[in-house]
Amino acid sequence: MPSRRSILKGALSGLIAAPFVTPSIGFAKAPYAVVQAPGFYRLKIGSVEVTALSDGTVALPLAKLYTNTTEQHAHSALNEAFLPEIVPTSVNALLVNTGERLVLIDAGTGAYLGASLGKLVANIEASGYKTHDIDDVVLTHIHTDHSGGLVSNGKRTFSNATLRVNEREAKFWLSADNAKAATGVVKQHFAEAYQCVTPYVKAGKFETFADNAAPVPGLGSILYVGHTPGHSAITLESEGQKIVFWGDITHGDILQFDEPGVAIEFDIDQKAAVAARDTAFKQAVDGKYLVAGAHIAFPGIGHVRKDTTNYDWLPVNYA
Ligand SMILES: [Zn+2]
Repeated sequence: MPSRRSILKGALSGLIAAPFVTPSIGFAKAPYAVVQAPGFYRLKIGSVEVTALSDGTVALPLAKLYTNTTEQHAHSALNEAFLPEIVPTSVNALLVNTGERLVLIDAGTGAYLGASLGKLVANIEASGYKTHDIDDVVLTHIHTDHSGGLVSNGKRTFSNATLRVNEREAKFWLSADNAKAATGVVKQHFAEAYQCVTPYVKAGKFETFADNAAPVPGLGSILYVGHTPGHSAITLESEGQKIVFWGDITHGDILQFDEPGVAIEFDIDQKAAVAARDTAFKQAVDGKYLVAGAHIAFPGIGHVRKDTTNYDWLPVNYA
């Protein structure tokens, strides 16, 4: 191996021999690194450790999907906020370590929604945990982008966890009659809900919680019906600090804050979803607590503030 001195000498002699030769472009060219940073972000709520986890992003034509508005108006509002026509939309989950138990809130998409998603398990591991460490998985609702990751190749991804869902949410999605009556993409959602939840039911690892009840000791829930029939935010309070994991109270962080009356095609009851958002925004403003959105740009954690155009989203300061 050449010594440092001989390398230096060689380099210097090269310079002296050819002082006006420009450095070769090939010398500095590196291939693009492509991959994004691992998708986890950690914070403390009182004495509890919270880890925001990314499942990835999904490319959505948001302006086409919003309702109670026109595509043209939604497009220009997003455009003014420097968003492209097809918006990379985050899918986020939270991991809560209460000290007593490790609780995952929402489970990502698994293998259901393409290669730009399904990164939850990799990010759980990057954040220092293993899937078998998780004691409970609590869902905000059973849509596939929140429940798809419950299974991997038909088996439970979280082998030691009990799955916990609001009881009316479970009743709605696990009803064979509802599944039979559904049409289009909703029918597909019913089939996927069955595939993702049933392995936990069969293993005796499935529990429901009542409206606004605690899914596990140390966490609470707020029933915000509309997006789905039992859609529930999950709350955590410790030592005077509070975070509310909203689930799908908003899709994105621009239009539905300025115009909370705008709904989205994925809302099963759009009118109720608008009312739920109105309540959730008012409560977050009054309570001044942190909220986390499943579809707000990762880590999706911040505050809500009143402004001249209804509401404003303030992402948490990086720490
Ligand atoms: Zn969702």
